[in-house]
Amino acid sequence: MSDLRDLYQEVIIDHGRRPRNFGPLAQASHRAEGVNPLCGDRLTLYLKIADGVIADARFEGIGCAISTASASLMTEALKGKTTAEADAMFAGFHALVTGVAAPAAASLGKLEVLGGVREFPARVKCASLPWHTLQAALHDASKAVSTEEIA
Ligand code: ZN
Repeated sequence: MSDLRDLYQEVIIDHGRRPRNFGPLAQASHRAEGVNPLCGDRLTLYLKIADGVIADARFEGIGCAISTASASLMTEALKGKTTAEADAMFAGFHALVTGVAAPAAASLGKLEVLGGVREFPARVKCASLPWHTLQAALHDASKAVSTEEIA
């Protein structure tokens, strides 16, 4: 188990230090901003959606290693997914980090490395921020989200 835990930590540290898909997306069709005041994480998420498929996803902003790694892993996982699949991934991720089972949780693959934050409630908000921002981008592009307004 401890080997697995080390591996998970390595993935998070790697993505926290060298985030993938970091920077603006000029042709974005959707965008949203998210902020987690408790930690100081803030990010802007950009999506390029064509025919219901997420063709590209990028983000920029400042945040702790957990929020940065979560955004990095999320943007990697989103590419090529339909918006419905992205919604299912959100449900699955929410279940993963809160420990509350979702009825139809999607397979999360590499994102499961973030499941360890479940033991640290303050860190759950860091890990969830990119996903709540994704929801805003997908469903209400004009809205900025804050983890402090989310039940
Ligand atoms: Zn944070």
